[in-house]
Amino acid sequence: MEATNMQENDVYDLVGIGFGPSNLALAIAIAEHNDRCAPGERLRAVFLEKQDDFGWHRGMLFEDATMQVSFLKDLVTMRNPASDFSFVSYLHAQGRLADFINYKSMYPLRVEFHDYLRWAAGRMKDSVRYGHAVTDVTPVDGGALLDVTAGARTFRTRNVSVAVGLESSLPPGVAPAERVWHNLDILHRAAAFEVAEPRRFIVVGAGQSAAESVSFLHERYPTAEVCSVFSRYGYSPADDSNFVNGIFDPGAVDLYFDAPDDVKRMLFDYHRGTNYSVVDRDLIEDLYRRAYREKVLGRERLRMLNASQVTSVQARPDGVTAVVEHLPTGERTPLEADAIVYATGYRPVDVTRLLGTAGAHCRRDDQNLLRVERDYRVVTDPDLRAGIYLQGGTEHVHGITSTLLSAVAVRSGEIVASLAAASREPLPPRPLAMISGPLIRT
Ligand SMILES: Cc1cc2nc3c(=O)[nH]c(=O)nc-3n(C[C@H](O)[C@H](O)[C@H](O)COP(=O)(O)OP(=O)(O)OC[C@H]3O[C@@H](n4cnc5c(N)ncnc54)[C@H](O)[C@@H]3O)c2cc1C
Repeated sequence: MEATNMQENDVYDLVGIGFGPSNLALAIAIAEHNDRCAPGERLRAVFLEKQDDFGWHRGMLFEDATMQVSFLKDLVTMRNPASDFSFVSYLHAQGRLADFINYKSMYPLRVEFHDYLRWAAGRMKDSVRYGHAVTDVTPVDGGALLDVTAGARTFRTRNVSVAVGLESSLPPGVAPAERVWHNLDILHRAAAFEVAEPRRFIVVGAGQSAAESVSFLHERYPTAEVCSVFSRYGYSPADDSNFVNGIFDPGAVDLYFDAPDDVKRMLFDYHRGTNYSVVDRDLIEDLYRRAYREKVLGRERLRMLNASQVTSVQARPDGVTAVVEHLPTGERTPLEADAIVYATGYRPVDVTRLLGTAGAHCRRDDQNLLRVERDYRVVTDPDLRAGIYLQGGTEHVHGITSTLLSAVAVRSGEIVASLAAASREPLPPRPLAMISGPLIRT
């Protein structure tokens, strides 16, 4: 199935930047739209991905980690339950449908969901160009079109969909080093880590990624003490209760979008515990049992340094010295460790940096946040008529679900509807003199 069938001199209806779950879901939604519409209404799209192959947070694909979202919130089901790109279709294709039913869980293993995404991406391979890192987006043709630059190639389009995800966030003054890691790279770092019998790791943070990193290091290195350092008293469980979970529903996006700013903030603050600085209850219980077992056996190597913070780190090529402050007493303890892992969160990639020249035409609100419409289209100056759609990084407009998988299926359908409506508008005449540089067709 291909979302694109380009002819020489054509202009794309959409260039997708990034090919993670958001733009993958959009590629499928476009392909399904093209399958059912008249030939003249088909959308021509291509997706550019900087990685050399499909990969979804590969550095955190622990063998025992599970998804934090129901398998029914896959790439398509909430938009089109009849799609053959669903997780259930994937299971059927793998011959594992009956086994998964007997597994009796809504939450697949993360490695399994990764394999599902890779399977779907493989079926959409004609729509994506891997190894294409986008560096600039430039308005052309008087702002009716955009040139998207990836290396030496330029793709001309009426719209872009920016879905570049999250990047690691380290505390101020901390820089990644040989033994100073962010959790997003932990599996890659551990694979290259050649200390035969490490003695100690420090993990900073109290969210899901921190707890998973603690669990991984504790299991993988039986000689090592693992110190979990966080300012809370203990890990807090994620709120995945029935009524609250509705905050991720498509209807909640409508409600959030129309709400006044103070109500938006109120709802976000009430329910940040669905996603931020919280841990799955099963994982908390598992870690507690391990710590308790070690206490009974008298061999304690899983240590919770709660109500504490790391005040300084000295990095060396072969390890670190971190000073840990116990907040209630102010007592400071230096800890030697083989490595320190910062599980201190993620932040959305700065899209205006990525959008280059086109970014300057995007309008911002009084808090300097991008103004975005309900259909995920950025509000731009009138002189930029090409569309810039954002997937992710719109929490201030669409709510807490914006960076998560819950939204991807329905949001893709909404963007396709918006693109289809826009594509019915005629392209303005394009004087040849205004076309910059050779267009490379893919
Ligand atoms: C470890 C981990 C587990 C998670 N688990 C869940 C979960 O269980 N449930 C849930 O709802 N959410 C989860 N999330 C949240 C996560 O944001 C979403 O799952 C999902 O990744 C969002 O998809 P995306 O396509 O928007 O972004 P991403 O998956 O981050 O994909 C962005 C893509 O853009 C590419 N890219 C970036 N810059 C460029 C560029 N300049 N040019 C070209 N390509 C570029 C990247 O290489 C990447 O492939 C998890 C996040 C992490 C880190």
